[in-house]
Amino acid sequence: MATLREELEKLLELQEIDNNLRDISVLLKELPEQIRKVENQDISLQKELEEFKKTFTHLKIERRQKETELKAIEDQIKNFQTKLYEVKTNKEYQALQVEIRNLKQKSSSLEDEILVHMEKEELLKEKEKDILKRIEEHKKIKIEKQKELEGKINQLEQKRNDLLKKREEHVSDIDKLILELYMRIKKSKKDGIAICRVTKDSSGCICSGCYVYIPGHLVEKVKRKTEAVQCENCGRILSE
Ligand SMILES: [Zn+2]
Repeated sequence: MATLREELEKLLELQEIDNNLRDISVLLKELPEQIRKVENQDISLQKELEEFKKTFTHLKIERRQKETELKAIEDQIKNFQTKLYEVKTNKEYQALQVEIRNLKQKSSSLEDEILVHMEKEELLKEKEKDILKRIEEHKKIKIEKQKELEGKINQLEQKRNDLLKKREEHVSDIDKLILELYMRIKKSKKDGIAICRVTKDSSGCICSGCYVYIPGHLVEKVKRKTEAVQCENCGRILSE
């Protein structure tokens, strides 16, 4: 039968394996989150593109309306200009001239507005190119990042499987009662630490699990190794 000293050493080794397993499971939770983040960036770029397309379409419709309006005014001007030759009185002639002048002013300001619209559309086309370029770039980055993260996940899963196998073998070699104690403490601790070494400073011995000083009689018990000793403060198993 193994001595208590040996059992405690085995527990410390088990603790090491369990710590590794815990670190791996933390990473395995974080990595899919990172993949989702990369995918979300994709979604936000697509949204930006959709918003942009809406603005662009709206602008185009506005311009077409203005162009239709302009065409109608130009037709009207032509119509009035033909009429100029048909009027009989000077008064009618002058009235038509005023109408034509007004219409020409309107058409000129409409032309200006249409030009402004066309300039805006040009600018937007540049912006569209920029968004599309960003989407393309992001696609590449996404694929690479996904590959990288999936690779990491596979590696970690492999490592976890290896560790679990190692743990199984290791556990079968540990005294049942002391293993049960270890498992019970491990479950109750947030950090999963069930066994820790006693450390020393100038004032005495300290539990490295909760950093509280250990009374002298307990330190003696730890040294004797006739029974498993637990820290009076945190309950963790103490080892020299
Ligand atoms: Zn403690």
